[in-house]
Amino acid sequence: MFDNLSDKLDKAFHILKGHGKITEVNVAETLKEVRRALLDADVNFKIAKDFTTKVKEKAIGQDVLTTLQPGQLLVKLVKDELTELMGGDVAGVNLSGNPSVILMSGLQGSGKTTFSGKLANFLQTKKNKKPLLVACDIYRPAAIQQLYVVGDSIGVEVYSEPENKNPVEIAQNAIKHAKANGFNVVIVDTAGRLAVDKEMMDEIEKVHKAIQPQETLFVVDAMTGQDAVNTAKAFNDILNFDGVILTKLDGDTRGGAAISIKSVVNKPIKFVGTGEKMDAIDVFYPNRMAERILGMGDVVSLVERAQEQYDEEEARKIQKKIAKNEFGFDDFLSQIQQVKKMGNMKDLVGMIPGASKAMKDIEIEDDAFKHIEAIIHSMTPIERSKPAIIDVKRKARIAKGSGTKVEQVNQLMKQFEQMSKMMKMMQGPGGKNLMKMMGG
Ligand code: GDP
Repeated sequence: MFDNLSDKLDKAFHILKGHGKITEVNVAETLKEVRRALLDADVNFKIAKDFTTKVKEKAIGQDVLTTLQPGQLLVKLVKDELTELMGGDVAGVNLSGNPSVILMSGLQGSGKTTFSGKLANFLQTKKNKKPLLVACDIYRPAAIQQLYVVGDSIGVEVYSEPENKNPVEIAQNAIKHAKANGFNVVIVDTAGRLAVDKEMMDEIEKVHKAIQPQETLFVVDAMTGQDAVNTAKAFNDILNFDGVILTKLDGDTRGGAAISIKSVVNKPIKFVGTGEKMDAIDVFYPNRMAERILGMGDVVSLVERAQEQYDEEEARKIQKKIAKNEFGFDDFLSQIQQVKKMGNMKDLVGMIPGASKAMKDIEIEDDAFKHIEAIIHSMTPIERSKPAIIDVKRKARIAKGSGTKVEQVNQLMKQFEQMSKMMKMMQGPGGKNLMKMMGG
């Protein structure tokens, strides 16, 4: 996600490399590139222009601390400004009602139904709530069916009235049903159309007026770029919604929607969807998203997840080994075991600053671990501790012993090399500087 934008911003900051201080001239040149990168990522022209003007004002006249390069300082300023642009603080969902009613709005295909399920699942498992899902699409029986499939998969009850063609009544009845049956959150999934049209807007406006939800959320597909912003504006004019849900951020999005939406409708992005499964939901942290866009990786998330699972003792041992150049396949194996506990490999790699580029091309499937483990188990202890001695002959033997192909052994060797390199990089002065800059 956002690879394109990150790459371009990276190039823009390179202009400042080697310059001792920020001047009107060199900052203007860099910010011109920053602006171009934002426009290419489908950020609205006015927003991109205001953005660079603000950063420029802040940059000029800044004392460049001795510990920072001008380029680093500018990255920090851009990061702060991006954070601000995307909403500044984290915005929660209002759950004060009894039951709390949440109305979902958005176009067909934006991911409303999927997100309704994700939110129900999130509230049930993380917030100890008892949610009820409500199917209010009176046009597409398949949509009601889809909500049942979603509800089934997460163990959440679904309310529907297939014969009733009045969505206002259905929603009102659902709330009565919730009250009578101890549900404390009601999530109303409404009908969408492929484009904004009057009938759809009238209908959702009526439902909105009748049920007076505590929280009205607008769901939008992040891949639709500028259209996402326009649709958001149309829905906001009618509903004055409380927050935005940006779905499909796992896809090949250019990121413009995430950056522009808040400033156009002045409503925060509250959650993002990052996949089709029910657990692919993340609270939206403007700060972390800005870091991610800038290719700084989502260090905070990584650290948090790592803290949940990581064995500190083991980590310290590994660090020493890396420092002494003694990192071998046994350590690699134990790292894999740690990573397996932490979750999806690709997600994790994306969170490591500097690693996303280096490791982007390496496909690591979850069941590929099986082969990796088999290959390492077929190595002799000396091969594991000194991988450099593994030559063609040894590779053939290892492949045979582990029931794999030589190409797979080669691939693992390559992965191992990349991982060792990356770890050294993160330990070096560059890694430390990065951490310092982000903390300060
Ligand atoms: P609705 O018409 O607004 O209710 O949209 P759906 O919930 O039916 O979603 C439309 C399609 O997008 C479905 O195929 C979903 O599986 C998919 N989808 C929804 N959210 C995400 C997401 O965060 N990432 C990805 N990759 N796909 C998603």
